[in-house]
Amino acid sequence: MIHGGAYSVDSSLETGVKLFAQSVIMAVEQSACRTPLLLENVPGGGRRMGGSLEDLARLHDALKPRLPAVGVCLDTAHAYAAGYDCSSVEGALKFVSRAHRLLGFDSIKAFHLNDTRALLSSHREHHEHWGRGRLGSEGLKALLDREEFSSLPGILELPLGGREDDRGSLEFVRRLSA
Ligand SMILES: [Zn+2]
Repeated sequence: MIHGGAYSVDSSLETGVKLFAQSVIMAVEQSACRTPLLLENVPGGGRRMGGSLEDLARLHDALKPRLPAVGVCLDTAHAYAAGYDCSSVEGALKFVSRAHRLLGFDSIKAFHLNDTRALLSSHREHHEHWGRGRLGSEGLKALLDREEFSSLPGILELPLGGREDDRGSLEFVRRLSA
């Protein structure tokens, strides 16, 4: 799982995408490891690449010709921080259809199912336990209900805390996906 990183002050998105692709391709081709590589959306903002789905698609498109197996992981907390309101059914479905249009469902290989305390479009990272953040159940259920995603792994990245809290978050998500 990799993030897009950021391009330098005196550089541009175009150059950043090119350098990112060159570096990742070099690293993968020099490695004997065949673990599938997934590109993750980030909270974005400033010169950080991969906050918008358009950016993520640019990074993905730059890798694809040389690394055809590269996929995408969508993080719900990062999406919210980047400006996609995944807290509502409508917002979550809009996010999904945009991801479909720009990346294609075949490219989406996993989800990071995270709630967040960060504000919409804040470009901040502040993971929270499910039920205590801003996302809540409606948008999450809309994602979990999608047939296209039914066999994909969903990983919870929880704030450090007690096991009880972890279990609570896991139950929250499992209940919705039942
Ligand atoms: Zn994540």
